[in-house]
Amino acid sequence: MQELKIIYLDEIDSTNREARRLGDAGAAEGMVVVADRQTGGKGRLGRTWFSPAGTGIWMSILLRPNLPPEKVSAITLMAALSVCRAIRSETGLNTQIKWPNDLVIDGKKVCGILTESVTSDSQLKYVVLGIGVNVNQTEFPEGLPYAWSLRMTAGRELDRERLIEGCLNCLKEDYERYVRSGDLRELRQKYEAHLVNLNQPVRVLSPAGEWTGVAKGITDGGDLNVLNDQGELIAVNSGEVSVRGVYGYI
Ligand code: ADP
Repeated sequence: MQELKIIYLDEIDSTNREARRLGDAGAAEGMVVVADRQTGGKGRLGRTWFSPAGTGIWMSILLRPNLPPEKVSAITLMAALSVCRAIRSETGLNTQIKWPNDLVIDGKKVCGILTESVTSDSQLKYVVLGIGVNVNQTEFPEGLPYAWSLRMTAGRELDRERLIEGCLNCLKEDYERYVRSGDLRELRQKYEAHLVNLNQPVRVLSPAGEWTGVAKGITDGGDLNVLNDQGELIAVNSGEVSVRGVYGYI
């Protein structure tokens, strides 16, 4: 990755949207958009991301990996690992990864990641890596039962600037490992060491229906290996399914 260039904004509709505007205008890899508040923060599958002012880290990074489009979904797992490592080292909190790309503390969600890729003629033009970390919120709306902030566990206000810097350093390091092979082979072990689902029962929510099994780890491409009740190991793809715990979110 070339040098990072950070743009700070007070307010934006969505940092992913802004990074896409910059990507369409030809901005270089390493452009980072950070906003204090998002008025239309995005989640996966058209969901929304609650992004109030002065509390979280709402940022998006523009990447231009020289890889085929099908290799992109693993970037989102790479980013979960990077942000998890950064939060652990900057705050000492025991953050874990919920496959594929959520971060949790005590079973509640402190970070969401939304990766969007733009292609033309089946070639990858660029990728926008959006990261939302709940840092200093002291409460959440009733409609978000699984939302949690770092502060709610740490019991003190945390420095967002320092965390942003830590995240970007870890992301830079992991991204270099990821683009070298185009998959997670150099990151898989570390990812699994932080994976909250490892060897835990999971419910797989797929368009074809729901089934249960035990999560056994990930593939180099970022699929989750789940041992089903018939004893078969099934690789489930992050683009198609969500995973929950048997009794709740984890
Ligand atoms: P998924 O959990 O399916 O991967 P996303 O990571 O895309 O979903 O996040 C979107 C969902 O996260 C929303 O539907 C909402 O339930 C929840 N959510 C929205 N804002 C926040 C937030 N600030 N913190 C935690 N969860 C949130």
